[in-house]
Amino acid sequence: MRSWVESANEPDGAFPLNNLPFGVFSLRSDEAPPRCATAIGDQVVDLAALQAAGLLPAAGFDEPALNTFMALGQPTWVDVRGALTELLAEGEATDVVREAMHPLDQVTLHLPFRVAEYTDFYAGRQHAFNVGSMFRGPENALPPNWLHIPIGYNGRASTVVVSGTEIRRPNGQLKAADEPAPRFGPCARLDSELEMGAVVGTPNAMGEPVSVDQADDMIFGYVLLNDWSARDIQTWEYQPLGPFQAKAFATTISPWVVTKAALEPFRCSTPPREHELLRYIQDTEPMLYDIELGVSLAAAGGDATLISEANYGGMYYSAAQQLAHHSSSGCAMRTGDLLGSGTISGPEHGTYGSLLEHSWGGAEPFTIAGGQTRTFLEDGDTATLHGHAQGDGYRIGFGDCAGTILPSHAR
Ligand code: CA
Repeated sequence: MRSWVESANEPDGAFPLNNLPFGVFSLRSDEAPPRCATAIGDQVVDLAALQAAGLLPAAGFDEPALNTFMALGQPTWVDVRGALTELLAEGEATDVVREAMHPLDQVTLHLPFRVAEYTDFYAGRQHAFNVGSMFRGPENALPPNWLHIPIGYNGRASTVVVSGTEIRRPNGQLKAADEPAPRFGPCARLDSELEMGAVVGTPNAMGEPVSVDQADDMIFGYVLLNDWSARDIQTWEYQPLGPFQAKAFATTISPWVVTKAALEPFRCSTPPREHELLRYIQDTEPMLYDIELGVSLAAAGGDATLISEANYGGMYYSAAQQLAHHSSSGCAMRTGDLLGSGTISGPEHGTYGSLLEHSWGGAEPFTIAGGQTRTFLEDGDTATLHGHAQGDGYRIGFGDCAGTILPSHAR
């Protein structure tokens, strides 16, 4: 679809008229508080200004988070998308909309929604197989429950941050296999994880599980998600209750929530099932998306090296299945709940979503631009996730999801 905003019609741009993602911005040039926006081409559109002019069929855009809008549900999301499409389509330029626009390079993008809770899943079969092979051998790589249940753990909403936020290397309890006792110190195996995040728009009540179809209707959209991980802390702490401090210190998301409506043409099916899933989480229609993903790594002051490419369409469980499973006990899911997909990895080197896999447990150092070698993240390194769905002559971009590592605090 063509827009009167010329930069939106570039075939490899992230934000054509077909996209219209939602985020939160403020101007660097004034003190006005953050408010909601969409992106079109190289511009943001101030939705609070359009709301004040009576141009949008919903309210809440003058708030510093998308939660009020997200809670209004799918019919309203569709209505607002329709109104924005009309305002921005070729031939429809009006002064009110022109005045609500600001160049992307002159704004600060904020965390797009108040993260109510954060759950991280483990739905990438290849990632689970790779990591399991490293620790238990390929015969026992997948835990016996893995092909039946979307495995997850309850993470921390308090440390979910927007792209660009610096990440402090954590300190924690560490114990190598050959050490007699644990010690407390800086994580030496700091990792990033390539994931997609599903954002819950509408809630379910406690005690009221939802079906896979209902779960899909509850999802407002998707972001890129980096589930930063302290592998050495994780190794010592994770049995029997799963990761705790190894994952609690930071999770980064991309600044724009890309809506389900924009991703609709890119729906794809989960892979064939080795064991039939129990009925409450069976697939009802294609609910994954064909989204091309990448991870790049740069040393301080250096150029970025693309180290991995993978696709979200290869996951074993969709976000809707994860959400239906999450509610199956009667667990209440809230507006602003964030569900991490699990690390997204392909089958061979160059398609791995974590450095743990890319360096095969730290045993195989690799080289990045400038000639430095890496196994895990060093201080000053920047890890960036990229993602887009490729359409015919356009793409639906997410905006980068980046973080730079700061040294740990002295102990
Ligand atoms: Ca993870």
